[in-house]
Amino acid sequence: MRRKVVAGNWKMNGNRQIAKDLAVGVSKIVERLNSSAEILVAPPFVLMTDVAENVSSSVNLAAQDVSSYDNGAYTGEVSVDMLSEFGCAYSIVGHSERRALFGDTDEVVAAKVAKCVEKNVQPIVCVGETLEERESGKTLEVIGGQLHSALEKLTGDELEKVIVAYEPVWAIGTGKTATPEQAQEVHEFIRGEVAALDEATASVMPIIYGGSVNAGNAKSLFAMADIDGGLVGGASLKLEEFEEICKAIG
Ligand code: PEP
Repeated sequence: MRRKVVAGNWKMNGNRQIAKDLAVGVSKIVERLNSSAEILVAPPFVLMTDVAENVSSSVNLAAQDVSSYDNGAYTGEVSVDMLSEFGCAYSIVGHSERRALFGDTDEVVAAKVAKCVEKNVQPIVCVGETLEERESGKTLEVIGGQLHSALEKLTGDELEKVIVAYEPVWAIGTGKTATPEQAQEVHEFIRGEVAALDEATASVMPIIYGGSVNAGNAKSLFAMADIDGGLVGGASLKLEEFEEICKAIG
């Protein structure tokens, strides 16, 4: 049985009160559902304390990004060790917004992934194609390139700490979702690429889907053979909707 994961990416939203309310709300959801899935929340760095102080131990903390450096003169960066101090055991890495807006190249993403696994924080490695790339038939080539660059230097043991998130760029925050079949095709491809790196890891690695997941589409996406959960942006800020998504994972 593969682990199932639902992660709420709050992006740059909220304030201290909203973060506390969401933390309490998500904790209640997790207690109510008694879900077998790992439920994660990824607040902005500065709100991590408020969230850490208000979530139950059954909710896992994730960062939205992390530095590839340990410490030192890296203004604006946050290290893996700093995250670990808050009990934050996961970090999103290579989100398309980081890649497109903040210059996170494949090399930067690979360095962040390597630092996470070295320090025992699980990276949620995001890969995804743009609409133009999909329409020109390059989806699998793009995903394969991003994946290889992020994962190829990891040993089998390190690879086991990784979660991959397939996030088609055209589906993020747009209300357009990949069909379950479109998503499954890419998830299956990703699992195959991971198998080529390490056969044993491929069957256990959670591969989650992100891109306008909501209460209405979560169940059909999560029903697909290689979709092990979701990375949820907008809908993770609405507790009722997030609860439905968590229910859909079972
Ligand atoms: C995301 O932030 O990773 C995401 C998938 O956002 P949304 O669910 O809003 O499309």
